[in-house]
Amino acid sequence: MRFAFPTAVVVLLLVAIVSGSNSARLTLSRAFGAAGNATPTIQSLDMPPATPAPLPPPAFAPAPGGQRPYIPILMYHYVRNVDQATDPLGYGLSVTPDQFAAQVEWLRRSGYDTIQMSALAACIRGESLCPARAVALTFDDGYMDAFTAALPVLQEYGATATFYIVSGFVGKDAYMSWDEIRTLRNAGMEIGAHSISHIDLTTLSHDENVDQIARSGAEIAAQIGAPVRSFCYPSGKFTPEIATITRDVGYTNAVTTIQEGAQNDLFTLPRLRIYGDMSQDGFQATVAAYLP
Ligand SMILES: [Zn+2]
Repeated sequence: MRFAFPTAVVVLLLVAIVSGSNSARLTLSRAFGAAGNATPTIQSLDMPPATPAPLPPPAFAPAPGGQRPYIPILMYHYVRNVDQATDPLGYGLSVTPDQFAAQVEWLRRSGYDTIQMSALAACIRGESLCPARAVALTFDDGYMDAFTAALPVLQEYGATATFYIVSGFVGKDAYMSWDEIRTLRNAGMEIGAHSISHIDLTTLSHDENVDQIARSGAEIAAQIGAPVRSFCYPSGKFTPEIATITRDVGYTNAVTTIQEGAQNDLFTLPRLRIYGDMSQDGFQATVAAYLP
C-alpha cells in the first residue's frame, strides 16, 4: 500500500504525456537532456540514483583540415555461437565471439578508430572534429551477449560501440538488465534507444510513435543517468514522419537497416550488416571498400 499513491501519480503522468502531444514533447524532451535534475517528471519518482557525470567518449585521431571522411556504421545483433543448421535465422544475425574478436583486432591493428553514434552525429553536424579513419560499431536489441561477449572484446582492444536498448525488454530472458546496461555505459559505451516494444513504428499513430520513440529514451536516460541521443528504428522500419518525430523529441541521429548510401541525413543513416557467414577477408574488404 505504501506505493499505491506514487504509482497512481506515475500512471496519471504517463496518461497526460501520451494524450497531449505538445505538452508531451516538452516534458519528454526536457526529460531527455536533464535526467535527474528537473522537477518531478516520470523518471524522478522511483528511479535509482543517477550515475555521476557523463564520461567523455574515447578519443579518435581527427581528420585534417575539417574534412569529413565516410564513417562506416557496422550493424551487429548477437555475438554468440549458433548452429547454422538448426537456427539459420539466428545464425544470420550472429557473429561468434571469435569472429568478433578477429574483426575488432583487425580494425584496431589497421589503424581504425571507433566512434559512438552521438559523436558521429556531432561530426556530421559540423559541431566537432571528425575522425580521420573510424568506424561506428552498433548493436541492436540489448541482448545479454552484448555484456558477456561483446564488451570484453571491445575493452581488450580499446574500442567503443553504441548499444540500442528496447526499454520494455530490459531484464527479460536473454536481455541485459539495467545494471548490465549501466556497466556498459560506465565502461565507455554509448547507450541508445530502440523503442519500448520493438514494434513496427510504421503501423502506429503519431501519438503512439511519440510514446515509443520518446519514452524509451527517457526511461533509458533515467536509468543510466545520462542523456540518450541516438535512436534505432525497430527492424529498420520508418517513414519521413517517424524520422521527424525522432528529431523533434530530442535525438540527434537515428540508424536504419538501409545497406549503403550517403550520411547526409542524420535520421536515416545507413549501416553495413555484418553477417555470421562473413569471412575475415570479407569483413576487411567490406570496411575497406568504404574507408580504405
Ligand atoms: Zn532490433
